[in-house]
Amino acid sequence: MNHTARSGTVSIICPCYNESDVIALFYDELREVLGSLDNLDYEIIFVDDGSSDETLDRLNTLAEQDGRVRICSLSRNFGHQVALTAGLDYARGDAAIMLDTDLQHPPQLIREMVEKWRSGYDIVSAVRRETASATWLKNVTSKGFYFILNKLSPTDVPEGVADFTLLSSRVYRELRDMRERNRFIRGMISWMGFKREFVYYDARDRAAGVSKYTFPKMLSMAADALLSFSSTPLRLATLVGIFITFLGFVYLAWIIARAILVGDLVVGWTSLIAVSLILGGCQLLFIGLIGQYLARVFDEVKGRPIYVLKQIPKGAAGEDAAADR
Ligand code: UDP
Ligand code: MG
Repeated sequence: MNHTARSGTVSIICPCYNESDVIALFYDELREVLGSLDNLDYEIIFVDDGSSDETLDRLNTLAEQDGRVRICSLSRNFGHQVALTAGLDYARGDAAIMLDTDLQHPPQLIREMVEKWRSGYDIVSAVRRETASATWLKNVTSKGFYFILNKLSPTDVPEGVADFTLLSSRVYRELRDMRERNRFIRGMISWMGFKREFVYYDARDRAAGVSKYTFPKMLSMAADALLSFSSTPLRLATLVGIFITFLGFVYLAWIIARAILVGDLVVGWTSLIAVSLILGGCQLLFIGLIGQYLARVFDEVKGRPIYVLKQIPKGAAGEDAAADR
């Protein structure tokens, strides 16, 4: 392939959940950047993730004014990762770029990403240097999360890489075929391989509105990432189980020996309670862990679509797209 000649269309995928305050601002900034790219046409796919404010109305107004804007609306709030998935499903570009609508992902970086793509990379991920407004709690939890994830899972997910990423069409088509329900797109992209490049940016504060990633949402994303990309927790359960059972036997042997040699059998009360507590706790913990994997298997087995649309983007081959899912 002649990489230098990479041109055509780029699809910009923007998930929005109650972002009515920033959409206009975001759109203006985005269009300015896209308009300045040579030899490149674009489409903007806004995915309304079941917003309860005027987000969808504002998006539809934009789409009426600008033929390059396409709207996809989910029937309820499915979450950021699913919204991105829906956007990718309807992308038609030779490359797709996912970025947040709150202007924390600077649209100006698109130019650099496109240059890297033109020079032959299939995946170009933006790496955040620091988040201006992030609380120390978010920084610490995020650092801890990536540390654990990369220790446990064979798939490497670089720290600071958010979902602000360019994917060439062959990569995002491949990603489309991965229909797992508990999605952690960063991990799925790392898993695929391909030639990858990074560009760097300093995150800005949100232009308006508040973060939609509440603590429970962050936890559930972390669980998806750890449990979907690693079976180490399950192996860990087995290992700890073996270790504790072994300890139990050693302890038992010691008690018996002591009973025979010294004869003071009754004093074991406190330690007995301690052991049964530890064992009971471990059992509950690991049954819960197995349950987590089981729940994921259950989710997959049901075979439901990942999302439900209430508005299909214009120009989508409606039936085909629906059948694809
Ligand atoms: N978002 C979404 N669905 C959700 C939560 C968030 O589509 O359930 C979108 C949101 O509109 C934004 C992006 O995902 O464009 C990132 O969310 P947010 O800025 O709230 O997360 P943070 O930057 O605080 O991690
Ligand atoms: Mg944000």
